[in-house]
Amino acid sequence: MGDVCSGCGQPVKTVITEGGKVRDLNPEPNPNGNHTMTTVDGRVRAHVATGEELPLTETAYKVHQCPPKPAPGPACTVCGHPMNRDLNEREPHDWHPCCDPDYKRDAGELAAGPARPRRKVRR
Ligand SMILES: [Zn+2]
Ligand SMILES: [Zn+2]
Repeated sequence: MGDVCSGCGQPVKTVITEGGKVRDLNPEPNPNGNHTMTTVDGRVRAHVATGEELPLTETAYKVHQCPPKPAPGPACTVCGHPMNRDLNEREPHDWHPCCDPDYKRDAGELAAGPARPRRKVRR
């Protein structure tokens, strides 16, 4: 049951807006969504919230957008290369483990700094 996107095959929630446009929404509610379900003359229609109505407090949906193919993971904010998508969905990261700022800082100290990295500070 349910609709699937003709572009990417992902499940979508196909709705008709109050303005009469057919639109595919993501089936999962999204706090950043701007489409809410309303009833017009006994039919379910999507209401497209505009600026002053946002943010919405009721259940809202986001317009479905096909993912690029093949879907890469989000780009590492440090090196810019894509990260593993599945891993990132389970445990989101902004960077590869090896791009971790702590790791980079140590590596930067090694590259730029004193001959011997001072990793332990004596008091
Ligand atoms: Zn799609
Ligand atoms: Zn990286």
